[in-house]
Amino acid sequence: MVIPATFSPALRVCQRDRRPSLTRARASGLGSWVHVRGMLFDYGGTLDGPASHWLDRFAALYREAGVDVPFVRLKDAFYRADAAAYADPRAPGMSLRQLMDFHVGVQLDGLQITDGGLRDRLAGAFVARSEAALAESRAILAGLARRYRLGVVSNFYGNVARILSDAGFAPLLAVVADSTHVGAMKPDRRIFEHALQALGTAPADTLHVGDSYERDVCAAGAVGLRTAWLVAPDRRPAGGTQADLLIASLGELDHALGHSPEIHR
Ligand SMILES: [Mg+2]
Repeated sequence: MVIPATFSPALRVCQRDRRPSLTRARASGLGSWVHVRGMLFDYGGTLDGPASHWLDRFAALYREAGVDVPFVRLKDAFYRADAAAYADPRAPGMSLRQLMDFHVGVQLDGLQITDGGLRDRLAGAFVARSEAALAESRAILAGLARRYRLGVVSNFYGNVARILSDAGFAPLLAVVADSTHVGAMKPDRRIFEHALQALGTAPADTLHVGDSYERDVCAAGAVGLRTAWLVAPDRRPAGGTQADLLIASLGELDHALGHSPEIHR
C-alpha cells in the first residue's frame, strides 16, 4: 500500500493560524457574509491533477509500468529529483515535458535504473495526465474568471508561469507567484502577500485553494485568507479542519460560493 503523501492525521490544527474560529470545515459553502473577490490556486496537486500529490502519482505510474519500487526508495528518489530541479539553472526555462524528462531522469538515476524507454513512458504518462487535468481546470477557471480575480501561488522551479501559459491559462490569471522568482516558499507568508498585492484584493476577500493542508490551508489562513482544501473525502480527518471549505474537485467551487454552475459555464 502506498502511503498518502499529502495527509497526516496528526496535522488537524494549523499551528500558525491565529484567526478567530469564524469557520470550521464547512462542506456546504461559505456564509453569505463572505465576499470573495479573488481566488488563488496552488498548482501541483490542485490545477494539474486535483488532490493528488506528485509522489503518489509517480508511485502509481511505476506500478502501472510494472516496476516494483519500495515506496521509501521512490520517495527518496523523488525528493532528490525535486531538489535537483530547484538547483538547476535550466529549470526556469523548461516546458512541462522538459521538466518531467529531467525529473524522471534524476529519479531513475537515484533508483539505479537505466532504461531510456521507461524514462520516456513515465514522463510521457505524467505529462499526458497533467495536460488532461489542466484542460479541465482551465475550463473551470475560465468560468470563475468572469466573477473573480484569479492567480496562482506555487512552490515551483521557476517555470510554472511557462507551463500555465502553454496550457492556456495566461489570459485568466492576474498573477503567477512562483516561489523561485518570489524568493519565498509556502508556508512563508511573503509569497501570499506578493500574490495579494498583484491581485489587488484584501486577504479576507480572497480564497486560496490547494491540496496541502500545511502549505495551503494553514499557510494561507495564517495570512488571513479564506481557504478551500482540495482533498478526497476518504482523506478528510474526522475531527474537523481549519479550512473554510472542503472540496473534492475544483468544479465544486461554484456551488460552494453560492453560484449555480449553469449560470456561467
Ligand atoms: Mg499542491
